[in-house]
Amino acid sequence: MKISEALRWAQNQLDSDTARLDAEVLLCHLLGVGRVYLFTHDDQDLGRQLNTFKKMIERRRCGEPVAHITGVREFWSLPLQVTPATLIPRPDTETLVEWCLDQELPATARVLDLGTGTGAIACALASERPGWSVTATDRSREALEVASRNKTQIGLENLELVNSDWFGSLTGLRFDLIVSNPPYIAEGDEHLSSGDVRFEPKTALVSGVSGLDDILIIAAGACEHFDGTGWLALEHGYDQGESVRDILENTGYRAVETIQDLAGQDRITVGFWSQP
Ligand code: GLN
Repeated sequence: MKISEALRWAQNQLDSDTARLDAEVLLCHLLGVGRVYLFTHDDQDLGRQLNTFKKMIERRRCGEPVAHITGVREFWSLPLQVTPATLIPRPDTETLVEWCLDQELPATARVLDLGTGTGAIACALASERPGWSVTATDRSREALEVASRNKTQIGLENLELVNSDWFGSLTGLRFDLIVSNPPYIAEGDEHLSSGDVRFEPKTALVSGVSGLDDILIIAAGACEHFDGTGWLALEHGYDQGESVRDILENTGYRAVETIQDLAGQDRITVGFWSQP
């Protein structure tokens, strides 16, 4: 079967909004080529690779995320390894990375990424700012192994990975910037039963009945881990901006502000801590 025929066949099998794109991404991964290749070589015969492609399409047809089938997802132009032990990095989270890079922080800033998963945020910040010392935590050892492989593959020397349940293993450590994309979905939310999230760890997604349990813990705990002053930046759901601003203001943060993602949805809320 030719590339063009295989893609048409796959698109019909998948029957979703992203069918064509998914089929192209999977075939590119299998062939080890970029998307342009698929168009410039559309009459190339797939030969024995057709069978593997059909198996990949069958997994996708059953709902498995593309990132789990390929084992990689690009974030901030970094090809990150992904497994079912971690959340799949989302483009929304790049809003958080951008905000951090826009701040006037010391050239040798100490930065903490809580619940790092694949290491997406931490790897992006550490690679953009070689002078920063980035610490990234996760309570899941399996997730930390994935983050560690990503750290090694990118070759980051300014990133330290720590097995910690939020601030549990960080006693005495101080930072200039604390960030997190914590679990923030409410238990029982209907979004949990469709799409990629069905295949992601619930512990990385769900946070109590309101979805705000972990954000409350992080906002309160972070105050103990700034060196007098520092910024906190948290990702959250599109409808949680007001609640997160309230949490930060009630905890004593100043300059509290919510920032929208590229789709115009409330996505991150930030606050400045200054020791009273
Ligand atoms: N920090 C990771 C990410 O942004 C994981 C987030 C999570 O598991 N909630 O992809």
